[in-house]
Amino acid sequence: TLFTDFGLAQPILKALAAEGYEKPTPIQAQTIPYALEGRDVCGIAQTGTGKTAAFALPILHRLDAAPRARIRRSCRVLVLSPTRELSGQIADSFRAYGRNLKLSTSVVFGGVTIGKQERELAPGVDILVATPGRLLDLVDRKALSLRDVEILVLDEADQMLDLGFIHALKRIVTLLPKERQSLFFSATMPKTIATLADAFLRDPAKVAV
Ligand code: AMP
Repeated sequence: TLFTDFGLAQPILKALAAEGYEKPTPIQAQTIPYALEGRDVCGIAQTGTGKTAAFALPILHRLDAAPRARIRRSCRVLVLSPTRELSGQIADSFRAYGRNLKLSTSVVFGGVTIGKQERELAPGVDILVATPGRLLDLVDRKALSLRDVEILVLDEADQMLDLGFIHALKRIVTLLPKERQSLFFSATMPKTIATLADAFLRDPAKVAV
């Protein structure tokens, strides 16, 4: 499989060439075609497998293919991640792969002052990467609404549960539109995670590496 086989937009292929990526990793080869079709995906994959690009590339393609004006205090894509460090890395990846597209990426996490994050979200963003607790703080302060989310990503689901985010995740899912695409990733899939996945996903394509 080659990146050119997927039908990804030219500016994205150009960014991948600039990153020095020659061919898709197995999780990318399995995930990208389903995600581009708009299907939900449930993936078992560890960090280091190229999981971030597996969801970021089809998301960038779909946003670019269906441009929409920004809506104040809202986002088109919500990526939930367990830690500040991982959230920052995911946002950096979206910016790198989307460098030739006109899409904005913001990242919010706890432990830092919230005012700057509120101001950043005010005009609306295309892609928002967030840790669950800070996300809900921003929603409760009316700095953000989740009602315009088109695509949800839940990354490192098992780590989320280990860190005690289960209640926050369940509340977040009630705030999202029912009509959306969801991509769910976890390094392991014990019963508790599979149950959580059921709450987020609709007829998901299952992929594992
Ligand atoms: P991740 O699993 O998303 O944390 O990615 C692990 C590392 O692999 C990151 O440094 C990526 O930049 C790199 N990477 C992801 N996809 C590819 C690819 N198709 N070819 C080469 N490197 C890649």
